Amino acid sequence: MSDKLSPQQRHKAMAAVRSKNTKPELIVRHGLWKRGFRYRLNHKRLPGHPDLVLRKYRTCIFVNGCFWHGHKVDMTTFENSDCCRIPNTNRDYWVAKIRRNKERDHAEQKQLAAMGWHCITVWECELKPASREETLDSIAFTLNHIWLHDHGAKAIQYPKLEEEVQMPIAADNNHSNTTNHLFFRPTTNQ
Ligand SMILES: [Zn+2]
Repeated sequence: MSDKLSPQQRHKAMAAVRSKNTKPELIVRHGLWKRGFRYRLNHKRLPGHPDLVLRKYRTCIFVNGCFWHGHKVDMTTFENSDCCRIPNTNRDYWVAKIRRNKERDHAEQKQLAAMGWHCITVWECELKPASREETLDSIAFTLNHIWLHDHGAKAIQYPKLEEEVQMPIAADNNHSNTTNHLFFRPTTNQ
């Protein structure tokens, strides 16, 4: 990669990309909001401060920049990938930085998994206009799959014989809540 920027300029440019509310994160937020999902942002008490947290789906979403998080970069060779081109100027510096980021990502996601959270990583390159909608649809699909998996386990235990008499009442009370979810369309709360 020919690098027209000085190391200082490049550092500044990269740091700007890294800051919060970067465009890829907004694309994911808007896309999921439009699809009916509700979330919290940058949950401070969770490892790694996930960009989006969907409690109902026990899922954390990280929107990762391909450069900073070394997308498709092998941890042993650190060869450039098509979406992570490490500058030749100060290459060792960037490799060390990206390595630390990747190791940290891995450790944080392991911690989150141990706490019962699913983690979805969305890469910046997957949000380019051509593939954006497909990526967002696939996140929505995964979230619904997680929800069904969690709630399906309960459905299998049910009905128990002695509860059958009371079942219609319970079903009526819950009916309007559950039906929507089963059709993959979480309703908005407004
Ligand atoms: Zn990428």
